[in-house]
Amino acid sequence: MTLYLGIDFGTSGARAVVIDDEARILSQMRHPWANVTDWVICWKEALWSLLEGISLELRREIGAIAINGTSSTILLTDAAGQPVDAPLLYNDQRGSRFIKDLSRIAPPNHTVLSATSSLAKLLWMQQLPTFSQARYLLHQADWLAFLLHGKLGISDYHNALKLGYDVEKLQYPEWLEKLHIPILLPHVLAPGTPIGELSPEIVAKFGFRDDCLVCAGTTDSIAAFLASGAKLPGEAVTSLGSTLVLKLLSRTRVEDARYGIYSHRLGDLWLTGGASNTGGAVLKKFFTDEELLSLSREIDVSKPSELDYYPLLKEGDRFPINDPHLPPKLEPRPEHPRDFLHGLLESMARIEARGYQLLQHLGADQLTYVYTAGGGAANYNWTAMRNKYLKVPVVSSENTEAAFGTALLAMQELGA
Ligand code: ADP
Repeated sequence: MTLYLGIDFGTSGARAVVIDDEARILSQMRHPWANVTDWVICWKEALWSLLEGISLELRREIGAIAINGTSSTILLTDAAGQPVDAPLLYNDQRGSRFIKDLSRIAPPNHTVLSATSSLAKLLWMQQLPTFSQARYLLHQADWLAFLLHGKLGISDYHNALKLGYDVEKLQYPEWLEKLHIPILLPHVLAPGTPIGELSPEIVAKFGFRDDCLVCAGTTDSIAAFLASGAKLPGEAVTSLGSTLVLKLLSRTRVEDARYGIYSHRLGDLWLTGGASNTGGAVLKKFFTDEELLSLSREIDVSKPSELDYYPLLKEGDRFPINDPHLPPKLEPRPEHPRDFLHGLLESMARIEARGYQLLQHLGADQLTYVYTAGGGAANYNWTAMRNKYLKVPVVSSENTEAAFGTALLAMQELGA
């Protein structure tokens, strides 16, 4: 039997999942982040501890490994793969002052024209004294995979999107050359492509098979989408976490930077989507998790709420309404907290439906089925309200773990 290992480096910690060739989970490990001062050391320790957490018996059966990282978390390494400075994490905005320069050469509304894009971060890194020692730019997932297979300068087209890589033509665009970046940008492969076998040192250290392959990885949010089971055009995943994130599989590529909409390539399809600032964080401001559970149960979903809110913590949203000054709308506030919650949940359901309408309006395939992930997925009455607005089946994702999605990616080539 051949097993597959998916490793997720996410925002709150690292996880690993081992699956068999029927995608059954055999083993799971976690390594949460705690008081991190040095991310490079932390990532390395997490990787080793996850591998050590897998029983020796399973390790000997693993045929392929893939790793996902957080999108646009990048680092510079020397010619030997040693990081020359601290990584810049996914949410680091220090590159924002280079957007103006970038906007002169990148096409209008390009994904690199964002404060957290990998390319904006790279321009910021170019002014570091340590930049002269840098040879490679790598994403978090690229570098972690390098620790396993020993090959430098390789990435995948999910991680490379925000570096400016053209995922349609599968090449770096000409305009990028105008930046004269004096280090090597990664060679980009399709996610899941086998890169090479585990290095002999790793095989010896952990007792893996010497023919175990390390595959090109992906980002944490795409991995979570892969975990849901959505596969066909029109199928979508809504994430009801702190914010509201929509992802819709489509045969056409949809991009509109005004709304923060862009598409990732997923084989022959496109994964398009957008994120709204509304979501669970607003619910959390007014209710405890216990109140959310009990009050939600009290809601009579057969009666529509008359309340029309735009729930936000502070002013501004981008998708499905692009207005940095959009005010939170949380009035009028009914006396009973149950009715207030009803209004909030139904308003968010309307925003979700409006988001999918916008994606379809811009050319994405018609919505057929919605999987749900995140803390709100278990709210049965909310699901019923969403079903009413979305007018398609709405279900809870069976699995939402990025590590599971990445294990499926590792299986894709060998298991197929
Ligand atoms: P994230 O990873 O984005 O922080 P999670 O997926 O862990 O978020 O979900 C947490 C969110 O889910 C919280 O903001 C909370 O308000 C919301 N939540 C928790 N329980 C419920 C519930 N029963 N109904 C609706 N929302 C809920």
